[in-house]
Amino acid sequence: MPIKTVEENRRGFAIAMFPALKLDALLVTSLHNVRYLTGFTGSNGSVLLSGDGRATLFTDPRYTVQSGQQVNCRVRIVKGPLGAAVMQEIDRGAPRRVGFEQDNVTVAHLESMKKTLPVRTQLEPVAGVIERLRMVKDAGEIARIRASVTANSRALEDALKRFRAGMTESELAAEIDYRNRKLGAEAPAFDTIVAAGARAALPHARPGATKIGPGILLIDMGAFRDGYASDMTRMAYVGPATPKYKRAYRAVLEAQLAAIDAVKPGATTGAVDRAARGTLKRHGLEREFVHSTGHGLGLEIHEQPRIGRKDKTKLEAGMAITVEPGIYMEGWGGIRIEDTVLVTPNGCEILTPTTKELREI
Ligand code: ZN
Ligand code: ZN
Repeated sequence: MPIKTVEENRRGFAIAMFPALKLDALLVTSLHNVRYLTGFTGSNGSVLLSGDGRATLFTDPRYTVQSGQQVNCRVRIVKGPLGAAVMQEIDRGAPRRVGFEQDNVTVAHLESMKKTLPVRTQLEPVAGVIERLRMVKDAGEIARIRASVTANSRALEDALKRFRAGMTESELAAEIDYRNRKLGAEAPAFDTIVAAGARAALPHARPGATKIGPGILLIDMGAFRDGYASDMTRMAYVGPATPKYKRAYRAVLEAQLAAIDAVKPGATTGAVDRAARGTLKRHGLEREFVHSTGHGLGLEIHEQPRIGRKDKTKLEAGMAITVEPGIYMEGWGGIRIEDTVLVTPNGCEILTPTTKELREI
């Protein structure tokens, strides 16, 4: 018997969940999930998984060659909207309950599917089915995340070598994106954040014409490499750091390390968040910590699990998450420190190699 591919195994795991979900088939329209289940990286595609084990990828003629190279399930090349072809396929198999991904289907798409829906079939909204499988990474995915994280760290060092005081946020952000691309990334994983001085008080600052230094510099950067995301935040102080900055930096670092300490199989994501929050509270900084402690990452920059105060997901070996507490003070600036961390059978491994020592540049 031929050895099953990674994608065949994933489809098998997904189909094995159908009885519990009371589904006979599942229409997957999230392109990330389509990639996960088939290897297809095109910009237009849906997969229909049937309870009898069959899988069909629907895409358009632009992807005839590419789908043939990437995909080892049945492919149907469709001219025009994919929905009608999916409905024909459903009609042929006549499953009673067909799940669709409610977060990835527009109202217009749903209405058009309903119009051609076979009489015996019902469409059932589902959420997070494939995403749940994607939370735990296999060895190949872990290797890709590791490579993405390592290259992202190198890109930071390469960019900082070219840093000069007086450079604008935009210039440094462009340098970071360029360096990541040179090191093999396909694209930034999100809009690179470079925030100088008081602008670092905005957790999602957009780089602009503000000149960097003297003072606080916050850099949050990541890239997709071989499909997988990296995500890291590092701080630098342009010139000699002030005592207030040093104190605050140490408090955030302590919180980040406490949260990482809490990462192990069986621990809830809420416990990881509370470890960071509790540490900042002891420093009188809990009200300045205005977001959750982290998130999963993989084919997307933000995936399950969420690492927030009230989250109850139990960590499992193979999950890749970020740990990124931060504090933000209007008029002064902000500090965030973020690593990508892999849950291992005995605890966790910090994948990000970049130093977290207080950096003055
Ligand atoms: Zn980040
Ligand atoms: Zn992040």
